[in-house]
Amino acid sequence: MVAAVATPPVLNDVSQDRARWKYLDNILTRRGPFTDEQCNPGPDLIETLSKAKVLVIGAGGLGCEILKNLALSGFKDIHVIDMDTIDVSNLNRQFLFRAADVGKPKASVAAAFVERRVKGVSITSHCGKIQDMDEEYYKQFQVVICGLDSIEARRWINATLVGMVDMDDPDSLKPMVDGGTEGFKGQARVIFPSMTSCFECQLDMHAPRAAVPLCTLATIPRQPQHCIEWAHIIAWEAERKEDILDTDDPAHITWLYEKANARAAEFGIAGVTYSMTQGVVKNIIPAIASTNAIIAAACCNEAFKIVTNGIASYMGLENNYMMYTGDGDSGVYTYTFLHEKKDDCPVCGNLARNMEINSELTLEEFIEGLAERPEAQLKKPTIRTEEKSLYYQAPPALEEQTRPNLKRKIKELLEDGEEIAVSDPAFQIDFKFKMVFSS
Ligand SMILES: [Zn+2]
Repeated sequence: MVAAVATPPVLNDVSQDRARWKYLDNILTRRGPFTDEQCNPGPDLIETLSKAKVLVIGAGGLGCEILKNLALSGFKDIHVIDMDTIDVSNLNRQFLFRAADVGKPKASVAAAFVERRVKGVSITSHCGKIQDMDEEYYKQFQVVICGLDSIEARRWINATLVGMVDMDDPDSLKPMVDGGTEGFKGQARVIFPSMTSCFECQLDMHAPRAAVPLCTLATIPRQPQHCIEWAHIIAWEAERKEDILDTDDPAHITWLYEKANARAAEFGIAGVTYSMTQGVVKNIIPAIASTNAIIAAACCNEAFKIVTNGIASYMGLENNYMMYTGDGDSGVYTYTFLHEKKDDCPVCGNLARNMEINSELTLEEFIEGLAERPEAQLKKPTIRTEEKSLYYQAPPALEEQTRPNLKRKIKELLEDGEEIAVSDPAFQIDFKFKMVFSS
């Protein structure tokens, strides 16, 4: 007897290609309950999608997911930009990379992988900084999807896209879909530059993490992390002052872990672990693959709905911000809401933003504080008023000339209610603040 070998049906290229897209075609050719009035499902829509040029910024944890999702959603002209090279620690979740790829640029490796797996998709990669590209470059895309972890890069692209809007040219408005994750939390949002709340309007959603006051660590720890910080900052200094702490040395981490554990026991606090010790000391937020997958999926769905002109209603004017939490403490939870545009947004608003300030502070203390203020987050600011230069980071001659101001108090330099302009080399715009003295 001859063993029966099942022969796979032979399909010609075209039908094979269409068979793969059967379910996608169903969506694109039929009107659904959430399809916008202005959207026309049908064969033309399949073509619209395949011709749309989209830009993905970032080819890391979110970027790998986004590129794969877009390719499998019918997008055929995808561009990706990323400045990083592949590190061995990326391999557990950045699934387009293999051990042999370590050291190579993320953008080109990710592009080649997806092109191999999804025939007919073209992914153009660019290894470099987004700041190297000009408006002409960004103008060619229909939508920009960001899968970045850097707040600074997202502020830059947001300001660029808002700045590109020309009221007489509808094509100058590029929707920006932004995904972000931090451990088990994440968010997906859609920004229609100049029309809806922009990344800068929403900056306070990314408040820098508040430091735990030293007195809490020293006297009444409440959380396991407080005990670890105590071991890290206080116990090490007191008992091993002569040793330089090396956070990559397992013996050092073990010592801190044991110290923290003993302190936790003393205060009846549970939960100190070795890996938590490592995380707190090295200030690591773990990257969670499932969070990236969920957020990237949400971003790609939004891009798909925008490019199809509303095959289902997309985020934008009525709601624009989806947040997701998947951690064990608060449960799995998602909420979508409208984040409103701010009139005093330095990027898309036209009013100076009020900034409350203690006028007894020196200019230097004020500048240091700017990095931590949720609404500013500026690390190398140059500050001036309409009449005078308060402090310039560069050029050296101006820095030297304005340096004496650093030691002067705010009240000696400014009037209550006076406006200042702050610029930072990381951004091309001036941030306007109206200084309101609190004392
Ligand atoms: Zn704004």
